[in-house]
Amino acid sequence: MAERLGPPLDEPIFDELAIIGIGLIGSSLARAIRKQNGARWIVIADASDETLARAEALALGDRYTADVTEAVRGADCVLLCAPVGATGAIGRAIAPALKHGAIVSDVGSVKGAVIAELEPLLPTHAKLVPAHPVAGTEQSGPDAGFATLFVNRWSILTPPASADAAAVGKVRALWEAIGANVEIMGAAHHDLVLAITSHVPHLIAYNIVGTAADLEDVTQSEVMKFSAGGFRDFTRIAASDPTMWRDVFLHNKEAVLEMLGRFSEDLTALQRMIRRGDGDGLFDLFTRTRAIRLGIVAQGQETAAPDFGRRGPGENAPGRRA
Ligand code: NAP
Repeated sequence: MAERLGPPLDEPIFDELAIIGIGLIGSSLARAIRKQNGARWIVIADASDETLARAEALALGDRYTADVTEAVRGADCVLLCAPVGATGAIGRAIAPALKHGAIVSDVGSVKGAVIAELEPLLPTHAKLVPAHPVAGTEQSGPDAGFATLFVNRWSILTPPASADAAAVGKVRALWEAIGANVEIMGAAHHDLVLAITSHVPHLIAYNIVGTAADLEDVTQSEVMKFSAGGFRDFTRIAASDPTMWRDVFLHNKEAVLEMLGRFSEDLTALQRMIRRGDGDGLFDLFTRTRAIRLGIVAQGQETAAPDFGRRGPGENAPGRRA
């Protein structure tokens, strides 16, 4: 069954909202906010003229500009939707032009580094409310987005201690209007949780597909021809945007290294079980891991359908991933 948005808001939350970076997440937000009447006027900015032209052709906003400074002048709310590595440059460009009391939010997959970079750049009158939707796909660009991407998915807000409560309330209301569940969390804890649920799994996928590509005794054409379901699922994740994921690993270094250390220890234990023929040990672990999958399905964060992730957007969009 398709995920559906609820009824649109009677009154928009924001008069003017600027989206900087109109890729998968930015364009999904533009589509969802427009449908749900979250803002009266949507301004779209992007570094690339080609992407902007595509956003305009898709009618994702009301005004389009390549100048991020100009984009935010009249905005009550600015959503940074570019890769995390662009945060500093965008922050510096928009800071002097922000309207008095403007809310600045983002969707970056890493929170601690984004806040550390952005907070000192913003004027004191601006209200920073960082966010991270735990929703996405392995695709990029404005054509890849869809309005129901965030329905029944979590958006984690990580407001700094000094955050303005009313601004946090408005950002929460915006995510809820587009179907998301909202959780408030400290930035450091967010980065640790996402390191194990998203960042390390991506690293493992990049690594296993890279290993297969570099094997000497098995040709690349054999890898593609005989790719089993397990490998194919890894290739889907390993096809994720290289810029976005490079930035995630460079900006969530500590938490990823911490979780990778734990992962390596557990992998060594598995190696030992295989070497020693410890079938009971393997069986016990595989039974526990199966229960985690069933728990995710039970919480509505994944479908139990065996072809998960292979249908198109909108058809319950089970391919949505963070
Ligand atoms: P995307 O599809 O590649 O879109 C990013 C857009 O930002 C591109 O259009 C890019 O322009 C533009 N951009 C890059 N630098 C810019 C700059 N300095 N100023 C203005 N625009 C700039 O990426 P995405 O998947 O939407 O990811 C965007 C953010 O969402 C990232 O911070 C990521 O961590 C976060 N996020 C992603 C997912 C996911 O699954 N993809 C999930 C949750 C959160 P070009 O046209 O030049 O490429």
